[in-house]
Amino acid sequence: MDLRKCFFAIIVIVSLALSGCAQKEYVMANPEPSKQSYSKLYEDARDYIASDRFDEAEEILKKIAQDQNEKEARAMMKEINTLKESLHSYTKASELLDSGKFRESFESLMEVSSLDTKRLTLVPEMTVKIRKAVLEKAEGLRTSGNDAEAKELLEDYLMSDPGAESVIAYVGRLNSPQPTMTKPTETDPLPTIAIPLPTEPAVEAPTETILPKEVYVVTLDPGHQLNGSSRLEPIGPDSTVMKPRVSSGTMGIETKIPEHELVLDLSLRVRELLIEKGIEVVMTRTVAEVDLSNIDRAKIANENSSDLFVRIHANGANDTSVSGISAYYPSTNNQWAGQLSSDSRRASNLILEGIVRETGAKDRGARASDSYTGINWSEVPVTIIETGFMTNPDEDLLISTDEYRQKMAIGIAEGIIAFLGL
Ligand SMILES: [Zn+2]
Repeated sequence: MDLRKCFFAIIVIVSLALSGCAQKEYVMANPEPSKQSYSKLYEDARDYIASDRFDEAEEILKKIAQDQNEKEARAMMKEINTLKESLHSYTKASELLDSGKFRESFESLMEVSSLDTKRLTLVPEMTVKIRKAVLEKAEGLRTSGNDAEAKELLEDYLMSDPGAESVIAYVGRLNSPQPTMTKPTETDPLPTIAIPLPTEPAVEAPTETILPKEVYVVTLDPGHQLNGSSRLEPIGPDSTVMKPRVSSGTMGIETKIPEHELVLDLSLRVRELLIEKGIEVVMTRTVAEVDLSNIDRAKIANENSSDLFVRIHANGANDTSVSGISAYYPSTNNQWAGQLSSDSRRASNLILEGIVRETGAKDRGARASDSYTGINWSEVPVTIIETGFMTNPDEDLLISTDEYRQKMAIGIAEGIIAFLGL
């Protein structure tokens, strides 16, 4: 082949190839017209699904699937089936709850699909409702003298909801002479959907019996101080994340009482009550004018080998209508204090229970948090108790009274004493 022929042949091949590409491009740029018009139908189907109108969505999808044999439509129909079942489980859980079938109700609730994002957000609230209802029923049985029946009811319930700590606690108290109603279950660990529950142990394995200690030590840390300190310190040992050493705290919206003053008074009252019980109390401060960072405070608790480190605070929020008490403890994932999580959570819940019992304050529950320096540096079980919102006019006025403060202190002390098992 001479050079010219060869060149010609190349031209022919290249142009053929190009025309092929061009044709392909044409196809790409013009998808089957049907696909575009169906996208609106898909959108409609999605909208129907979002508002639980599954039948209408299904009708649309069936049509698409028939005309087009569309994979997407079929997948969506499968999803609808899951959602339908999930909605059914949720509704059934609610009905079973109403008819007093608590265990069955909880079991049905656990059938809510992890794909059902809409219902999934309602599961925690429903769990709390069921636990509350079962406790109320048990309390009713107990007060009418049917202790055995109450116990049976609760034990049956725990078979399917083994994480309900408030229920476990109540069963425990049924065996003691004076059980008291376990307050809100909002602080119980909520079950996680899609994780098989049966493999979990029904109740945490009892720890070995330890002989009672001679003297228990509790460190009380009244939050803040006269002047905050904005200098930074690491939020945990070896952490590169820094936070101010100690902030100045909030203030009573009506009373103008600073947080550091309120919480010192509360802590001193708690101290009195604990001392009466023979507990040794260490205070991080007894006056307003100190310079103690959050690390310093945790170190005081550590160095005194405290059985519990209770940090007493009050809350503030922009929304003045917000009120109630809450508590914080390290999560199990906390890289410094994770091993203290379960004890700390127990202490948090017991103290909140005590406060609610004494004051009737709104219980906002105990939450895990790993962003508090004073928690992360603690080597002993630790809790932050938020004793109310000073930015709520009513709560601010209430907590400024001698009577309410004393009730609050009694509640906190009762929780601590219960935690120590005294
Ligand atoms: Zn505070």
